[in-house]
Order: sequence, then C-alpha cells, then structure tokens
Amino acid sequence: MTDFIISGPELADGSKRDLYVAGGLLVDERSSDAETIDADGLIALPGLVDLHTHLREPGREDAETVESGSLAAARGGFTCVHAMANTQPVTDTAEKAEYIDDLGRAAGHVQVVPIGAITKGLAGKELAELGLMHNSRAGVRVFSDDGMCVMDSALMRRAFEWIKPFDGVLAQHAQDIGLAGPGACCHEGELSGRLGLAGWPPVAESVIIARDAQLAEATGSRLHVCHVTTAEGVDVIRWAKARGINVTAEATPHHLQLSTSEVIGYDTVYKVNPPLRTDEHIDAIRTALADGTIDIVATDHAPHAPQDKDHAFAEAKPGMLGLEQALSVVMETMIHTGRLDWAGVVERMSTAPARIARTAGQGRPLAVGEPANLVLVDPTRRAVVDRADSASLSRNNPYHGRELPDPVELTMWRGRITHRR
Ligand SMILES: [Zn+2]
Repeated sequence: MTDFIISGPELADGSKRDLYVAGGLLVDERSSDAETIDADGLIALPGLVDLHTHLREPGREDAETVESGSLAAARGGFTCVHAMANTQPVTDTAEKAEYIDDLGRAAGHVQVVPIGAITKGLAGKELAELGLMHNSRAGVRVFSDDGMCVMDSALMRRAFEWIKPFDGVLAQHAQDIGLAGPGACCHEGELSGRLGLAGWPPVAESVIIARDAQLAEATGSRLHVCHVTTAEGVDVIRWAKARGINVTAEATPHHLQLSTSEVIGYDTVYKVNPPLRTDEHIDAIRTALADGTIDIVATDHAPHAPQDKDHAFAEAKPGMLGLEQALSVVMETMIHTGRLDWAGVVERMSTAPARIARTAGQGRPLAVGEPANLVLVDPTRRAVVDRADSASLSRNNPYHGRELPDPVELTMWRGRITHRR
C-alpha cells in the first residue's frame, strides 16, 4: 500500500498543514518512500458521506450498478454512500442486505452501506426483518421505504419500537398518498394547472413529517426525514426540534438549486419526487440548511435508463443524478451565497450524515489516527457540466449544459486514491 504526503492544503477551518498517510490512516510522520501529492491551493476536507443513494443493483443494472454508482460517488468526493432499499428485489432481509454489502466491498470505490426496507417489499403492509438486518454482517441501522411513504401509522409506530433498542433510525419519504397520489408530478400551483400536470401540494409532505415526529416522540425513537422540499415541512421540523424530538432531516442539491419553472418545457430530466418547488420554498430550504433545521445534504442520486425517461412527463420515472455534482451545487447555492463556510459544508455533507447513520470510520476529522478518508477540492475551478462525462451508467443529469463549480481533484478512501482528475 502506497504512503502519501499531501503537501500544502488548506483545511476546512482555514489552517494550512501537510497531511501524512500511511497504512490507510492519517499519521504524524512522513514516511521516506511516500508519494507526494501537491495540494497547494487546494482544500482538504473529510470524505463526503451520502445518506440517500439509489444504486439500482440488483434489478436495474442497465441504469446503474454498485460498481458504476460507487465510482460516480468517488468522482463526486464521496467515501461512503448509503444504498436505498428500493431495488428489485427490495433489500428487506438480512441476506439481501449482506449481498449489497458484498457488492460494495467487491467494487471497492467507496464504503457502501445498505439501507434496509421498513416494510416487506415496500408494500407498507408488514414489517421487514428489521432486527435480523441489523444483526447481519451488514449491520443495517438505517431503514427506509424510500420511493414509497409508510402510510400506516400503527406500522410506523411498531417500526420505531423495533429499531429503538439498537439505536436505529427510520428515514421516511414524506408523501401523504391521499394528498399527493402516485400520479402527482408537479408542485401544486398556478403552473401545474397551466401545464395540466397533477399537483403535489406542500401539505402532503408536512402532515407526514408532523405525524412521524409525534410517533418518534411517543416511542422515544429516531426519525430522519428524507428530501425536505417545503417551507411547511421546515416549520414542522423546527417545531419538533424545539420540543426535543429526535428528528434529523436532509435536503437534496437539486431542491437547493432548481425551481419548478424548469418543468415548463416538459423535459423529463426535471421530473423528480418530491417535485421541484418555487423560489419561496427554495429559499426556506437554504435557510433551514444554513441554520441547522435541516441537518444534511443527501443526493437522492436516482439514475434512470432512457426508456424510463423518454415518455410524456406524467408517465416518465421520477429522479435525477446527483453524486457527481452534489458538492458543485452546494458550493454554488450555499458557499457562494454566503450562507455556509467550508466547515459548515463538512458538517452537512460528512460529519452529520455519518453521525445520523452511526457509520463508523466516516465523517471523522482529518486528524492523526483517523482513517485517511478525504477529498481535495479546488475552490476556484468552474466548468460546464457535460452529462457524457460521468461514471454513472445513466444520463439523466439536470445540470447538463450549466456552468458550475468543478471542485473535486482527488478522493482518497482508507488511504487509497479512488478518483484523481
Ligand atoms: Zn424519496
């Protein structure tokens, strides 16, 4: 295993210091045969951690595999992704969770942590093997039916009770299907009416967050809210946190950057669930991410094959790529607007996601004795995004043709270079 000297980077706190890597760890002495990486003018951050990634394997290897998706993650500066359970078959047993864990190790680009389903087959009827998945080799701690909302309140309550003894967390896709049914595909408002698209009202998100926060309080268990998109949802989370309820929340890069007006041309690359919102909601999400009401950024990286996107808007599959431009978009929307500094970005894209998932060895400071999980970023470089330039097998990149920061120079996971520009 090669040792490294990372020469001259700035750290997130603004200090400047060489980093020494040996045996996969950060160490306090340079080894004589180490390879030098020139990081003058670059910023060294802890490796990014994604709590919400769709890798599509098993079942849709034409759209993404664990290999391709984890390589895209490394290119985006990530050293860990949490793989959502809505594959085919669904990750709802210990055996299936171990299978994802094995695929991640075999690919070897980032740490791949399986998320287990809350209910069998994501059907919302019976609980999945929560305890067995946790006790498996995969050590599952985050559970989610993402893509679907667990509508049955009693089932949700029982899931909270099941996961509490081992400090698990339920990550809910908050969408009341009575208020925003399977066909809902556009932020409900003047625009959805004009375009003739089924509306997805903000209240469909906030009522579920309120219910789940109260269930988390009643059971003393932990709730994580996936992809918050509305001012109403933010208000409920603010209330729950003030009350001391154990709730955390995420925002996606696309909901920080892109507005509902993108769907005017019916381009299905902008179809995503929950949908893109208006500027007022975007501002509320940015404010909440800055003040800590929303704890983290999670990508909801959702690759889709062309045959699933080349349809009328109402019929196309929802979802967009996210891993490779996540940091770019966070820089554009949060750093360049003065809402966050680099330390704030580290907290929201590395430290806090690892803490919520209790993922050992990730989200750690760049300190002696810690695993050498890091990303070197160029804070000044910009480029026009080209969807062809991607490790993902899919091309549903909503930033194609836009100029954005292009920061990631090098990613290192456990002392190995997993991406280098
Ligand atoms: Zn979702």
